[in-house]
Amino acid sequence: MNPKKEEMNPKKEEMNAKAALRRGSTSSGSQIRAERSSALEEEEKCLLYTDYIKPTRPISVNELKELRLNTYRKLRLSSSRVFHTKCNHFYNIKLNSRREEMVKTNESNIDIGNCSVCYKINKIKNKKHRSLAIDMSSNYFEIFEHESKNINHWEYSLEKLFYEWLYQK
Ligand SMILES: [Zn+2]
Repeated sequence: MNPKKEEMNPKKEEMNAKAALRRGSTSSGSQIRAERSSALEEEEKCLLYTDYIKPTRPISVNELKELRLNTYRKLRLSSSRVFHTKCNHFYNIKLNSRREEMVKTNESNIDIGNCSVCYKINKIKNKKHRSLAIDMSSNYFEIFEHESKNINHWEYSLEKLFYEWLYQK
């Protein structure tokens, strides 16, 4: 959900930095380049830099429902949610997961285990990535507070990104 990706072209710089590293150069210029390149590499790998692709034609409500179902299938998302009262976070749990088992055993979906969103956010060391994750998940919580909502394409993409990010290994 970030439009700035195309501004960067780290390839050449990255190669120079790598070549410098292979030569065993210790000059500070190379070191700075290497550090900058690894930050850019990390950025390219970060799911949160996924750009929103606006559909080129109108997407019907039924098509969106189908797309959404596919995402749920692909990510093995259950339709049941857990809620965490301390942080006000909620999310759908994975099918056949330990959490699903805990929900069944406790006959409750409130404060079951630790919050996966908080865990995931706290694990991010890169400040920029962390603030992107916080923004993205806040958008998700705001939009998906009411489960039965008819969603638009942007919201569908946000939901998909949220769960891909949340459950990626
Ligand atoms: Zn939380």
